[in-house]
Amino acid sequence: MTTDRMLKFVDTAKRSPTKRSADERATDFGEIYAEFDAAGAGEQAGRCSQCGVPFCQVHCPLHNNIPDWLMLTAEGRLEEAYEVASATNNFPEICGRICPQDRLCEGNCVIEKGFESVTIGSVEKYITEKAFENGWVKPVVPPRERTESVGIIGGGPAGLAAGEQLRKRGYQVHVYDRYDRMGGLLIYGIPNFKLEKDVVERRSALLADGGVNYHPNTEVGVTVSMEELRARHDAVLIATGVYKARDIQCPGVGLDGIYPALDYLTASNRKGLGDAVPAFDDGTLNAAGKRVLVIGGGDTAMDCVRTAVRQGATSVTCLYRRDRANMPGSQREVANAEDEGVVFQWLSAPEAFMGDRRVTGVRSHRIRLGVADATGRQTPQPIEDSSFVIDCDMAITALGFDPEDLPSAFGTAELKVSRWGTIGIDFRSMMTSLDGVFAAGDIVRGASLVVWAVRDGRDAADRIHDHLTAKAAGASRDAA
Ligand SMILES: Cc1cc2nc3c(=O)[nH]c(=O)nc-3n(C[C@H](O)[C@H](O)[C@H](O)COP(=O)(O)OP(=O)(O)OC[C@H]3O[C@@H](n4cnc5c(N)ncnc54)[C@H](O)[C@@H]3O)c2cc1C
Repeated sequence: MTTDRMLKFVDTAKRSPTKRSADERATDFGEIYAEFDAAGAGEQAGRCSQCGVPFCQVHCPLHNNIPDWLMLTAEGRLEEAYEVASATNNFPEICGRICPQDRLCEGNCVIEKGFESVTIGSVEKYITEKAFENGWVKPVVPPRERTESVGIIGGGPAGLAAGEQLRKRGYQVHVYDRYDRMGGLLIYGIPNFKLEKDVVERRSALLADGGVNYHPNTEVGVTVSMEELRARHDAVLIATGVYKARDIQCPGVGLDGIYPALDYLTASNRKGLGDAVPAFDDGTLNAAGKRVLVIGGGDTAMDCVRTAVRQGATSVTCLYRRDRANMPGSQREVANAEDEGVVFQWLSAPEAFMGDRRVTGVRSHRIRLGVADATGRQTPQPIEDSSFVIDCDMAITALGFDPEDLPSAFGTAELKVSRWGTIGIDFRSMMTSLDGVFAAGDIVRGASLVVWAVRDGRDAADRIHDHLTAKAAGASRDAA
């Protein structure tokens, strides 16, 4: 039932937590938004209109019960708000920080037209931070331990969400990751200024406290074979994400000074975590004092340009072949990049990298957007005689990611993949073509979002439970 604390959107203006000034945030890698105080969170949560059909919830991949936790926050019932928020989401403090809310919940808020949406993401972050501060976030304690074990390949959000859900049912969970830390792209892809790393490490430690076993530095297909994992566990989940950087085809692409986005971001994140990173320290993957050009228009490109600003680049330019309205990246992140001094060259595509041994610039041409293709997006068409050169000392390519060739890497030719290389699953059971082997996250969908990875991980945990329950029932029937 709606209390008199709600529907305040009529006379209370939208207010987001304070954003640090562009000048200040360019000097460090800290998150750019402050947190709400209790009064601010309650006031803003009270702007929710508690509408009959909550489109925020419909458009959230996790179908988070947003109107209810907003109401509980407005009433100051934070522990209950956290309970509701965490019932459908393993990592609300992470989604609150990095979901593209402008495209999901907030972008579909019913009061959006005319009154501006409720600041859902910031309230979600506030509730969860308060829950951690007050000790309400507890490690999993399963009602009973089961003997069956599940091996999870990949400790990103899909693998970790599945791991936690399986622990809740008492399974023995083992997460194998080729990296030295858990978190996947949350730890080595997404920069600190969007998601501070202690937030991720706090979660992965909590899962370990709840009995999830981690096997870092373990690359399946190299350190341990898929066959061994299948023999070791009653079910296996593949949640390996997508990491093969899309190539750019143009002359000069092999020059020094041109790097794939993820190499660049991983070096920066490792540096922030205190690791020794020779390729950063010797200046290779460090933008300090350089003119940087980033090619691409997605969230990864935005993370690169904003990292370069913080590293002390002398100029940062982003080259993108479509216009602002057609960028795949979140408009919020584009606006943040612009505030921080990044220059955008819209409707421009690279033609050739210039330089003898090292890149000195990129020759590009202008683009006009033509008729829409089968996907509905306007096709970029080069404009004749429109070439121009952007000088640079470092070029970063951020053109998206494809899956690695997993059947070869795992030595399992029978593992069926789509024509894009993503793993094919049965959409009801989430099982791959290998019996007892499931898949979830980016490796199934292609490069996507954290919130979808969490959703897929949760669904996979349920399907694995169904499979193991049916298997156990079959075994006891056979024994009878
Ligand atoms: C730079 C960047 C910024 C992004 N920003 C955002 C954002 O702001 N908001 C958002 O919602 N999404 C963002 N995304 C997308 C989001 O990070 C992914 O959709 C999400 O992390 C996918 O989760 P996953 O668990 O499927 O895979 P991943 O997070 O990629 O995790 C996969 C894990 O599997 C491990 N692995 C791979 N192969 C093996 C193997 N053979 N053996 C053992 N381990 C293996 C990897 O080491 C990795 O830890 C961003 C992505 C990038 C690249």
